[in-house]
Amino acid sequence: MAVDATQPYDDQNVFAKILRGEIPCRRVYEDEWSLAFHDINPQSPTHILVIPKGAYVSWDDFSAKASDAEITGFVRAVGHVAREAGLVAPGYRLLANTGTNSHQEVPHLHVHVFAGRQLGPLLA
Ligand code: C5P
Repeated sequence: MAVDATQPYDDQNVFAKILRGEIPCRRVYEDEWSLAFHDINPQSPTHILVIPKGAYVSWDDFSAKASDAEITGFVRAVGHVAREAGLVAPGYRLLANTGTNSHQEVPHLHVHVFAGRQLGPLLA
């Protein structure tokens, strides 16, 4: 079910539980600010989610409230994950759903990294 991205952060959401180690994930990368793991229901041969460790519902929430260090760390983590996975030359797509119209399902900011096949036009 899609979430309302204007709601306060819910610390029982599934990615908060992953960050606390309460449920497992297939970790790709982790640093002080960010965690990356394979999506449990991949939509492309490579489908990684990158999340900030801070409690932010959406890109909007994050960009308004996070510190410069968190924002820099998160943006660098996304790029690092793409480079380390060898995605730059073949190409990849980043996506961050926000709110009901985008069908955001998990109310903790996440950037999808899709790669490994021809992804086609945006919104196809
Ligand atoms: O952008 P949206 O919120 O719709 O995406 C949520 C993503 O989180 C889905 O792609 C889903 O497969 C993934 N997910 C996951 N591990 C979970 C729960 C959801 O990778 N335990």
